[in-house]
Amino acid sequence: MGIQLIKAGITDFMIFERAAEIGGTWRDNTYPGVACDVSSHMYSFSFEPNPNWSRMFSPQAEILEYLKNCVKKYELTPFIKYNANITGAEFDERNSSWNIHIQSGEIITARTLINGMGPLNRAVIPHIKGIESFAGKTFHSSDWNHSFEMEGKRVAVIGTGASAIQIVPSIAQKVKSLYLFQRTAPWVLPKLDRNMSKFEKKLFRFLPFTQKFYRYLIYWVLESTAMGLVINPKWTKILENISLRHLKKSVPDLELRKKLTPKYTLGCKRILLSNDYYLALGLPHSHVITEGIERVEGNSIVTKDGNHFEADAIVFGTGFNAAEYPKEFVVKGLNGKLLSDEWKQGPEAYLGTTVKNFPNLFFIVGPNTGLGHNSMIFMIESQVNYIVQCILNLRENAYKYMDVRDAVQENYNAELQKKLEHTVWNTGCVSWYQTSTGKNTSIYPGFTFQFWKRMKKLKKEDFEWVK
Ligand SMILES: Cc1cc2nc3c(=O)[nH]c(=O)nc-3n(C[C@H](O)[C@H](O)[C@H](O)COP(=O)(O)OP(=O)(O)OC[C@H]3O[C@@H](n4cnc5c(N)ncnc54)[C@H](O)[C@@H]3O)c2cc1C
Repeated sequence: MGIQLIKAGITDFMIFERAAEIGGTWRDNTYPGVACDVSSHMYSFSFEPNPNWSRMFSPQAEILEYLKNCVKKYELTPFIKYNANITGAEFDERNSSWNIHIQSGEIITARTLINGMGPLNRAVIPHIKGIESFAGKTFHSSDWNHSFEMEGKRVAVIGTGASAIQIVPSIAQKVKSLYLFQRTAPWVLPKLDRNMSKFEKKLFRFLPFTQKFYRYLIYWVLESTAMGLVINPKWTKILENISLRHLKKSVPDLELRKKLTPKYTLGCKRILLSNDYYLALGLPHSHVITEGIERVEGNSIVTKDGNHFEADAIVFGTGFNAAEYPKEFVVKGLNGKLLSDEWKQGPEAYLGTTVKNFPNLFFIVGPNTGLGHNSMIFMIESQVNYIVQCILNLRENAYKYMDVRDAVQENYNAELQKKLEHTVWNTGCVSWYQTSTGKNTSIYPGFTFQFWKRMKKLKKEDFEWVK
């Protein structure tokens, strides 16, 4: 957003970051094995190709480095205020501006407010009876305890999502015992990961169009997987068969294979990629526990069937709260309307970007912009392009504010929820895409090029423009 504002000639803006450095997801998640699961050549900005990605799916440190290089190259540092946790904001209709509150007590006034708080950074840690008295260490995947030595330890991992399947193979060879507590067996596909060759890197550097072509190729391959997700869930059978073959090849033990066989339609929860997850679970000291956890007692995890599993550490691979609105973040729009009230039934926006009665407020990765098959950076760039158009319109026409029309937002969401009904995300599983009442507020139920097309040109008539 910062880069595109500068490119559009808008330089009176400020980025507030609660941490002491940039990086978001790629600053916070430092667990062993952390890497992207969308190929790096696609999981990067379209305007900033990196010919030096070391692998098809590069590790966290490289992605963080890439983001830091962007800040440097586009001279963003003077625009960023660190250690500035925004606690809320209210719209002042008289001055048509947002009063934005920083935890330090400072109040900043701005014509436009853009919420880029990120989808996956509010860790979910389940409350387990007795956990406070656990004798060992406990930590969440996004807050890794690097001082805890894994070697020779008994480690319990709770959860089988995208982080856990990267953690498990990375620690399995080091630990004395590995206990994986599994509620749901995920669908795991082979990861087409490999080192990028010296030749490829040279080719991309000297003939940039070849990297562009490579990116297109990856984009369309990923986009084609959405056919099963959004058009007909039955088509995901092809991927289910690939995954089952991967499982059969990696896990000869029939009992373990049965435990690891998913029981929902592929794609309903996030599709996972790994070449070594199943192999790690087949090690003699690895144990997959499918019985629910009842409590923690001393240094043991006790399951509902009364079994005790002694551990030196419990790792929560239990993901993030993506679907619900963070109630502690107080946002007041027109007539003092609270965003938390507007979103009582779950977050809703127009094109995941603007919300009625909250003028000049924009969301990046807002409601229903998440993906199950392609790069979030593609969605982010589409939204950023749209927001820049909105800001330029506000400025050039000296409007006080813009507010999305009620009917426009309502129709869009009715259409979106109707579309969701026929997708794989509505085939009966429970996922982090949903709120506690089961409403899917995270996923965009379409192809990403459809979203891009809708975002390409601002339709002024969708908004009320107040002079
Ligand atoms: C382990 C992991 C792997 C992932 N891999 C992929 C992948 O391969 N492909 C993909 O498409 N997506 C992936 N994602 C999703 C990923 O979150 C997005 O792709 C992308 O990083 C989102 O960027 P963002 O800037 O919107 O949010 P974030 O990266 O979360 O950044 C948000 C920033 O806002 C700051 N912030 C939040 N609240 C406040 C506040 N109140 N005041 C001030 N600052 C605040 C945060 O500190 C953070 O720095 C992954 C997520 C995780 C957790």
